[in-house]
Parts: sequence; structure tokens; C-alpha cells
Amino acid sequence: MNEALERLWPDILAHLRTYHPAVCRQWFEHIQPLSIQGGVISARAHSPVHRDYLQRQCLQFFNEAGQAVTGRLISFRFLGPNDKDARDAGAESERLQDLRQADALVINPDYCFDNFVIGENNRLAHAASLGVADQPGRMYNPLFIHGGVGLGKTHLLQAICVKILQQSPSSVLYYISCDSFMNQFFDAVQAGTMADFRHKFRDVDVLIVDDIHFLTKRDRSQEEFFHTFNALHQINKQIVLSSDANPEEIPHLEARLVSRFRWGLVTEVLPPGYETRVSILQRKAAMRSLSIPDDVIGYLATRIDTNIRELEGAVVKLQAQSLLDKQPIDMRMAQLAVGDRPDHAGQKPTIHTVITAVTEFYGVRLTDLQSERRHRSITIPRQISMYLARLHTCLSLEEIGGYFGGRDHTTVMHAIKTVDNRRKTDQEFDVVVGSLHEKLVHNGRPA
Ligand code: ADP
Ligand code: MG
Repeated sequence: MNEALERLWPDILAHLRTYHPAVCRQWFEHIQPLSIQGGVISARAHSPVHRDYLQRQCLQFFNEAGQAVTGRLISFRFLGPNDKDARDAGAESERLQDLRQADALVINPDYCFDNFVIGENNRLAHAASLGVADQPGRMYNPLFIHGGVGLGKTHLLQAICVKILQQSPSSVLYYISCDSFMNQFFDAVQAGTMADFRHKFRDVDVLIVDDIHFLTKRDRSQEEFFHTFNALHQINKQIVLSSDANPEEIPHLEARLVSRFRWGLVTEVLPPGYETRVSILQRKAAMRSLSIPDDVIGYLATRIDTNIRELEGAVVKLQAQSLLDKQPIDMRMAQLAVGDRPDHAGQKPTIHTVITAVTEFYGVRLTDLQSERRHRSITIPRQISMYLARLHTCLSLEEIGGYFGGRDHTTVMHAIKTVDNRRKTDQEFDVVVGSLHEKLVHNGRPA
């Protein structure tokens, strides 16, 4: 790496962690910056899955960080471990794209075995998934994982993909949703391209279909899946399926499919116990380089006891909140995050009171705030509204963004930081925001 980049790199990472913490992961430390040339920074990720995550979810944030740190227009280019240079990177991703097909589901590098917490609720499903990833087509075929929403089925399916791709990058792996299978089937029937369809599904080493219980709705796709299954199974190609119920309980599933789904191993994931929930929270926090005190972890694990997705949601909320308040995560924050509102919450101003106060003061309309307009006369009241909404309501960043023309939470977070910073340097501005704030404090209370 050249010297200039060596100096910039820590600042780029720091910028990302400050302004876009939600996308940052512990493993960002292992991204290897390679070169900066003609406004392009090349950096290497340690696997194609990580490279794809950076390219898909983080590119604009890295570009922004590069610009903030250098003061120049910067665009990032991410390479995988075997991509030799910028030109090869294109070829490599094209090749992988080909393997996984355009309509494959995106693999999330968070969903790897390392990040999966083993508990009594999922021990067998985990062991079986690991076995299948180590020896595709040899251990259990098919592997059928079922269980309720948010209990880790998709996580295990993707962990299998990640591991197989790591161990044998040339494997042809097709990971799709059941919906996508059916849609592609009907498209192929309509377009008369069944030969292509079959090639796509049958010339693979591993076929992984998420949420197979959706197969029930249309009969002809069941028949086609039956033949796909047989073709792959006969030549020992691995099949992995997930479902919200065990094969017998999937409504209208043909008996011949039920029996095939039972040929290998059928295993269930159950809701995690308290100890496992604690470990999951710790794992999710570590993954984001976040420190959460034990009492807060214990509290969250008690309050959220069914859906693991909600546990993760709470961690993400706490991270955003702690950044906003510039305070380490504490119990009060956690209570807000999971909805144990303080008693006087009912008296707080609503988002509408906030917006009315701001639009009245600036003489703008709500529709202006919701529009795409970027003129300062609009962006400033918009940012102040977001800032005050955050201070005075219990709405999440996402919810606030929703009120302003469906902007995402990073935009809201950016707005809040902008207002916060400007209040410190611009006295007049500070007085305006301060008085709007006061007004809300007093008017928000019922008379
Ligand atoms: P499902 O597909 O069963 O509805 P997901 O696999 O999407 O559920 O899991 C929901 C969330 O819970 C994901 O963020 C996933 O990482 C997390 N999760 C589920 N089980 C575990 C586990 N055992 N360890 C760590 N995270 C888990
Ligand atoms: Mg799922």
C-alpha cells in the first residue's frame, strides 16, 4: 500500500464508524487497503462474500468517507482474495455472478457459523448444517430445517453457503427463495425456456431453497420441484431446505415430496433459552465492536424472549442511540429501545407538533420537507425537524425517516449530527433551535 493511503486509512475507518455505524463490522479491521490512484481507492476483502457485502451495502459510505477525509472525489473498488487487480475484479465478480445467477439471494457475511450461537434449541440443526457444509452431498441429503420466524433458519442456510464457498470457491451453489423458484418456473413456461431453467437448477453442486413451505400454492411448480429434486439427489448433489413447518404439516404438499423431504435429516430450530439469548446479544454486539454492559444484556434477554431478530434489532437501536447521545449504552437507553417508556411519555409532543412548530417558524410546507429538494431553505428546516423529532418523540430513526419522504435512518442520523455540530459553532442557529426546543417542551404538555 502506498504511504498516502496508509495515513488516510485509519481516518476513513473512523469516519465510517462515526457516521455509518450500522454497516460497520468488526472485520473491517482486516480490509486491506491496496492503492490510491486517480481518485480510486482499491481495497481487498478476505472473501468474495465480504467483498460483495462491501460493494452492495457500503460502497457509497466508503466513497463518502474517502471524500470527507481527502477533500477530493474518491470512489472505492473492492477486491476479493483472488482478484488480482481492478480489471480482474470485474471478471471475478462476473464469474461468481454467473455461478450464483442474477436472481440468487444475497448472502450476508454476518450469517456465518462463527456468528451463530449454539444452544439447546438449535444444537442438532447447527451440527447438521456444519456437516453438510463440510461434505456436501455426503451426510444428510436433503437437510431440512424447520421452525418459527426469526429462529435462525436463514442464518444457517447462508452459513452453509459461506462455508462451502470458502472451502471450495469453484462450487456451483444456488441459493434462492422458494418464491424465486416458482416465479422463474412460470416465467420459463411462458417464455418457452424450460431447457434453460432446468440447466440453471440442475447443473449445480448445491441447491439451497429458503422457505420451501411457499411451494404449496401452485401445483405445477411442485411437480417441477419434484423433478429438480430427483435429478440432483440421484447424482448426490446437496439439497438444503428451510420451512416454517415440518414436511407433514406443510398444507397441500404432495405426499411424494413429503417423503423425499424426509429422506435425509429433518431438524427443528426452537426458541432460544435465556442463556442462549444472552450469548446471542453478546455475539451481535461484538460483531459490531459494541460494548454493552451485562445488566443491559440481561435486561434485553429477559424482555425479548421469542424472536431473535428482535434481539438484534435492539442492539442496532442501542448503537444508534448511544452514538446520538454520545453516551455509553445504559439501562435507560435500553428501556427506551425495547419500549418500556418512561411514565410521562404520553405527554410528549408528537412528530406532528414538531413538524408544525418548524414549518411555522420557517414558512415552509410539510410537502417541501418530504420532497427531494436540496435547497438550503428546505434542508435546514428538514434537518431541524428530524433533530427535534428525535429529541421529543420515541420514534426510531427509521420511523422518523419515514415521515420525511421515506428517507433512511442514516440520513436521519446525518441530519441530527449536522444540527448538533452547527449548534456548537453558530450561535444564532443555536438560539433558533433552542427556542423551538423550548416551545415543544412547554406546548407538548397537555394544559
Ligand atoms: P428465520 O430465517 O428462521 O426466520 P433468521 O435466520 O433470519 O430467522 O434469523 C433472524 C435473526 O436472528 C438473524 O439476524 C440471525 O442472525 C439471528 N439469529 C438466529 N439464530 C441465531 C443464533 N443461534 N445465533 C446468532 N444469531 C442468530
Ligand atoms: Mg428466513
